[in-house]
Amino acid sequence: MSLIADLDALLAEAQGLLAAAADSATVEALRAKYIGRKGILPEMMGRLAGLTPAEKPEAGKAVNRAKTGVQAALDAAVERLGGGARAGHAVDVTLPGRQRTLGRKHPITLVLDDTVAIFRRMGFLVAEGPEIETVYNNFDALNTPDDHPSRDPQDTFYFPDGRILRTQTSPVQIRVMQTTKPPIRIVCPGRVFRRDTPDATHGMNFHQIEGLYVDRNVTLADLKGTMAEFARELCGADAKIRFRPHFFPFTEPSVECDFSCIICGGKGCRVCKQSGWLEIAGAGMVNPKVFTSCGIDPEEWTGYAFGFGIERIAMIRYAINDLRLLYENDVRFLHQF
Ligand SMILES: [Zn+2]
Repeated sequence: MSLIADLDALLAEAQGLLAAAADSATVEALRAKYIGRKGILPEMMGRLAGLTPAEKPEAGKAVNRAKTGVQAALDAAVERLGGGARAGHAVDVTLPGRQRTLGRKHPITLVLDDTVAIFRRMGFLVAEGPEIETVYNNFDALNTPDDHPSRDPQDTFYFPDGRILRTQTSPVQIRVMQTTKPPIRIVCPGRVFRRDTPDATHGMNFHQIEGLYVDRNVTLADLKGTMAEFARELCGADAKIRFRPHFFPFTEPSVECDFSCIICGGKGCRVCKQSGWLEIAGAGMVNPKVFTSCGIDPEEWTGYAFGFGIERIAMIRYAINDLRLLYENDVRFLHQF
C-alpha cells in the first residue's frame, strides 16, 4: 500500500535530515515541515479517511510509527544542539516577573471570624452541625407550630426523604442540648437556606450565627449584658443596644435587639432610615418547651438564645447595598475588602 510506504519513507527522510541539522533554526524549520499545522504528516493522515476498513489498521500503525519517530528525532536534535531553548523562544531574563494576585478573605468570612472571636473571648465555644436537617430538629424541637408558614415547601427546601435544608442554625442548639449536660455556652455559625426570590436583601442561602447559654439562674439581664458587650466589641465603645418585645416560638419572652447605627452614631441617616437604630438580632429566654424536648429540666435550668444574619452585618459594615454582590465572586468587588 502506497500510504504505508510513503510514511516509512517520510520517517527515514526526517530522521536523516534531523540527524544532520547543524543549528536550532534548521530543526525548527523541519519541525514545521513535518508536524506543523500545515506539515506533511498531518496531510498524510488526512489520506487515512480514503482507505477501506481492511486497510485502515495497518495504515494507522504506520501513522503512529511516523509520528513518534519524527517527534523522537526532533527531541534528539534539540537535545544535541544544546538544551531546551528553542530558536525564537530563548528566555529573556531581563523581563519583569509575572504579577501574582493575592487572595483575601471574603467579607462574609471576615464578619464571621470577627463575630466568633468576640464570643470566644466571652467564653462561648463554637458548635457546628449539618446543613441537611430533620424536620424535628429544625422545627418540632424548637416549638414551631405545625401550621407555621415557615414549614411550607414554598419557604423551605424539602428532600424526597422528608429531610430539609436547615432554615436556621437553631437545630445545632438542639443537637448540643440533646447530647450535653448544662451548663452550655455555645455559638453556632453556619449557612442556612430559605426559598426566597433573590433580590437586594434576600438570598436563597445566607449565614447566621446563633448563641445559646444555659445555666442556673440565667436571666434576661445576662442576655442584655452579653448583647451590649458584643455591640461594643463589634461597633466601638460608644455602641448602644435596645430591646423591643417580639415573638419567636423557641423563646419566651422574645425580643428584637437593635444596635445604635454605626454609620451615623444614632443621629439618623439613610441606612438606619433616620431612626438611629439598626435591627440586628432576635433573642430571648429559651422556651421551657424547648428544654423539655431536649431532656433538660426547665425547673432547674434557664437560658437565653440569640441569632443574627452575617450578611446584614457585612452589608452595614462595608456599606454594601446589594446582597447579591456577596455571591457573584467578582474579583473587582472582592478585592476591596
Ligand atoms: Zn444611621
